[in-house]
Amino acid sequence: MDKDTTVQLYRSMFANMRDGLAIVHLEAGEHALSPRLVEMNPAAREISGSQAESLDEGNLADYFPGLFDADLPQICARLAGTGGCADLGEVRAGARYFRIRIFELFNHYLGVAFLDVTEHKQAEVEIARLLEKGQKNASELETRVAERTEQLEEINRELDTFAYSVSHDLRAPLRAMQGFAELLLDKSHSETERAEYLKRILTSVHNMDRLIQDLLAYSRLSRQEIMLQTVSLDKVVRDAAQQLELASGGKNYQLEIAGKLPEVVGHHAVLVQVVLNLLTNAVKFVPKGVTPKLRIWWEPAADYCRLLVQDNGIGIAPQHQERIFKIFERLNGLDSYPGTGIGLAIVRKAVNRLGGRIGVESHEGEGSRFWVELPRADSGIPR
Ligand code: ADP
Repeated sequence: MDKDTTVQLYRSMFANMRDGLAIVHLEAGEHALSPRLVEMNPAAREISGSQAESLDEGNLADYFPGLFDADLPQICARLAGTGGCADLGEVRAGARYFRIRIFELFNHYLGVAFLDVTEHKQAEVEIARLLEKGQKNASELETRVAERTEQLEEINRELDTFAYSVSHDLRAPLRAMQGFAELLLDKSHSETERAEYLKRILTSVHNMDRLIQDLLAYSRLSRQEIMLQTVSLDKVVRDAAQQLELASGGKNYQLEIAGKLPEVVGHHAVLVQVVLNLLTNAVKFVPKGVTPKLRIWWEPAADYCRLLVQDNGIGIAPQHQERIFKIFERLNGLDSYPGTGIGLAIVRKAVNRLGGRIGVESHEGEGSRFWVELPRADSGIPR
């Protein structure tokens, strides 16, 4: 190949390179200055953003503002003296990233290469982003698995207690029936005694029937699909009050419903059951000889409506206020206050399924105030 062809080939390569290339010269005795630009290819010109036609008197740092550090002259002087190449690291020019290298050519001439590493950089950023996302997802997944495990363990514990309590409470009336039936078989007892034993057996049958009915109502609540709707709390409370009148068998009590109650998100029949259970307890758990006085009203609470049912009954000590909502938890003897211990468990399950909350404020001997919070109808039906 002749010299002209070679020069032409190198020139063409220089001009067409995608990476920026510049040739600079370090004037003797001017080692403290940025090297003077002799030539650069179109890619380097584009990186510099310079509109200047000629490179006369221009120096490297001025053509590429912000891309070189102040120690550029020293680095160039060292390279011109000892030869070799220096890596100046990565810089950013607009939206692109370049790795800059300076290398010695000859006679105080140096080459400057601007290697485009934008794609690399973007890939690095993307990898970091994905890694971070992956780590976040993994830790979220771990938390969710841990929460789910905790929930399942809780359900298992509840199931164990439930199975134990059911068998324990169902066996009590059965044992009574067995005992009295054996006494009945003994012919030595008088007619009056035997009639009494039969009556006791019937009471046990009745108790067991109520237990089974309540258990069925409780388990139905877990399985039944509940369609949330806008419900008039006013109508719920009035229906429950009417049912209480029928169920109380003529027992004397006073009931005041304060003002008109609002609309909530819930389910009419389920809510009537909730209110009826609370009212039944309010009438039942009063000291002997005291007329039950019940009051129902509501208060707004953020997106919720808080329904309150207050009585003048025996009250509940603070340490028992959580456990009374669990199945079969009773604080009083069956003789003084009959019941199955399932009523409030039904209430809590129902309220939870409606997306609400329940609680009680009370002190022994000072009456109780049960509250139920339900989503207000004007805040929309939760999905
Ligand atoms: P039950 O009424 O069949 O005994 P509940 O589940 O309805 O069962 O109530 C559980 C227990 O909570 C009751 O046995 C009673 O000790 C207590 N309790 C419930 N409501 C009241 C109330 N209004 N006042 C005092 N104690 C109550």
